[in-house]
Amino acid sequence: MRRESYRDRALVVRTHDFGEADRIIVLLTRNHGIRRGVAKGVRRSKSRFGSRLQHFVDIDVQLYPGRNLESVTGADTVAYYGSGIIDDYERYTAACAALESAERLATAAQEGDPWLFDHLTETLARMQQTKHPTVVLDGFLLQAMTHAGWAPSLFDCAQCGAPGPHHAFHPAIGGAACVQCRPPGSAEVPEEALHLMWLLNHSHWPAALQLVESAEGGHLSTTAHRLTRAHLQWHLEQKVTSLGVMDQT
Ligand SMILES: [Zn+2]
Repeated sequence: MRRESYRDRALVVRTHDFGEADRIIVLLTRNHGIRRGVAKGVRRSKSRFGSRLQHFVDIDVQLYPGRNLESVTGADTVAYYGSGIIDDYERYTAACAALESAERLATAAQEGDPWLFDHLTETLARMQQTKHPTVVLDGFLLQAMTHAGWAPSLFDCAQCGAPGPHHAFHPAIGGAACVQCRPPGSAEVPEEALHLMWLLNHSHWPAALQLVESAEGGHLSTTAHRLTRAHLQWHLEQKVTSLGVMDQT
């Protein structure tokens, strides 16, 4: 097998220290999906590019394929999104959750996805100055699920198509549920929470933020976050299960 080094844009989604001076880096690349690489010697102070191999840096990276791990042989900074994020606890945790979710989505897709990479960098840029980090995270997750083909139905009943608004939600049937279709264990939700998710999924940011800043906004955004996470979790588990089944056949 011919092995040649290649370049790609990437965001660091995880790092682990390895040995005395090396670091294992998990990258979401723009065109090659998730890549795991080792950056040798980067924890030494004279390392040329060690400081760029961290969260929230958009890098132009050079990788050399290896048997298990690739070697990171160079990295140039394209953009730095850390300012405004690393010194703000809420933005930091929401941004980390976006990176972690992007890693899981990219792993489930098993191929390069420039849209996901671009959408993640836009989300980090938005995160740097938002007053509502969790809402920005939910917008990222909803749009990423729509891109993956798992968009929750947020108005019509996901099962029978009866027009909403409805007051129940269950990931197993694909989102909103009417009174006839709601499965046991459905979450009882205010219709405005589903409307907030719909606005976020369609990038109607000003209208979404207006709703979040209304009197009921705190409650609505908490509910929207819970449903978004539940929907993501359910679909990632389905995906992992179906990949496991495919591996066995
Ligand atoms: Zn129905």
